[in-house]
Amino acid sequence: MDADFAIVGGGIVGLSVAWGLLRAGQSVVVVDGADDALRASRGNFGLIWVQGKGLNAPHYARWSRRSAALWGDFAQELEDNTGLDLALRQEGGLDLHFSDGSLADCATRYAALRAELGGDYPFEVLTGAALMREEPGIGPKVAGAVLHPEDGHANPLMLLRALSEDVRRLGGRLETGRMVSQLLPPGEGFALGCADGTVFHAGRVVLAAGLGAAALGPQLGFAAPVTPERGQVLITEKLPPLIRRPSLIARQVGEGAVQIGATNERAGLDDRSTRKGMAQLAAEAVAAYPALAQAQLVRSWGALRVMSPDGLPIYQESEAVPGAFLITCHSGITLAAAHARLMPNWILGRDGAPDLEVFGEARFAV
Ligand SMILES: Cc1cc2nc3c(=O)[nH]c(=O)nc-3n(C[C@H](O)[C@H](O)[C@H](O)COP(=O)(O)OP(=O)(O)OC[C@H]3O[C@@H](n4cnc5c(N)ncnc54)[C@H](O)[C@@H]3O)c2cc1C
Repeated sequence: MDADFAIVGGGIVGLSVAWGLLRAGQSVVVVDGADDALRASRGNFGLIWVQGKGLNAPHYARWSRRSAALWGDFAQELEDNTGLDLALRQEGGLDLHFSDGSLADCATRYAALRAELGGDYPFEVLTGAALMREEPGIGPKVAGAVLHPEDGHANPLMLLRALSEDVRRLGGRLETGRMVSQLLPPGEGFALGCADGTVFHAGRVVLAAGLGAAALGPQLGFAAPVTPERGQVLITEKLPPLIRRPSLIARQVGEGAVQIGATNERAGLDDRSTRKGMAQLAAEAVAAYPALAQAQLVRSWGALRVMSPDGLPIYQESEAVPGAFLITCHSGITLAAAHARLMPNWILGRDGAPDLEVFGEARFAV
């Protein structure tokens, strides 16, 4: 047996879970695909974002908030162990609105969510002078913003690097450049057959292969109904301080570059950036923060989100093949702390496990 657990997929989700399982005393091998594989974890926006999550699904709002609350300690532990700076800033985030109607509608929906959550859901609506005080770089086209104090951002590439380094330090095995093509259910354990002929054996298996789960899932009895949604992102040159708090439109990172994004497009597996997508992002960013009109763009890319039919995570142990778990979500940065700190108890069936049944695949059968 190579390990107690084999994790298929070494993106943010697979590595967060691997890290948590190692800390829980399990041995782990992470089998990750080729360099040219689709990897949302290398192309995302880096937000730790609670607002907007679970407006029609309070359990998702609760789960996102739980993860956001764990992020500080999680980042600190990774930074202490690796010496890397995750650039975590969690001082609130803004959802900007360009019309009074859209702002009022949003506030009404948050108020309803707050009521569903028993009054415990912090947010503040900012307009006029109050908004200008909080975010002086905002332009006159912005009607107002919702400030959610639990939101923040981090450097997602540093998170990925810190997790890989710490997984290795904790004794985990990272097998990169290996595409799993066959997942054989347990005899003496699961056998993971790779395209290059390598086979890994493990007591249990976690399928955290992002979009790759759609093809592999059925071998373990999962529907794994995940599909791609493209997001394009722009990066400016380094600029003087302009944006205090991140928004869904832009965030300024420590060195001064502004990251602008991201589009939401159905484009199949095409992860290229397009002139139309970039123009749309740039126009919206300039409408929100007019000083960006003078900024030079230095980079752009596209990446594919891993979307379930309702946009919520899927956490499922296979009914057909016990010991096989499917873990996937479209908010892997936000949920990294929960996946690392809470998910292992659920997988191991230990005390204190979160109740994740609501995130199972049964909901798609209705
Ligand atoms: C433009 C954009 C912006 C985003 N912004 C945010 C944000 O601000 N905040 C947030 O929380 N989330 C954000 N996300 C989402 C976040 O990036 C994803 O939820 C997260 O990266 C998913 O991680 P993953 O590990 O499931 O998938 P991936 O990163 O796609 O990794 C999957 C891994 O599985 C491997 N794999 C696939 N098939 C196989 C196989 N057969 N054998 C072996 N390995 C395999 C691949 O090699 C890959 O490394 C964004 C995504 C995009 C695209």
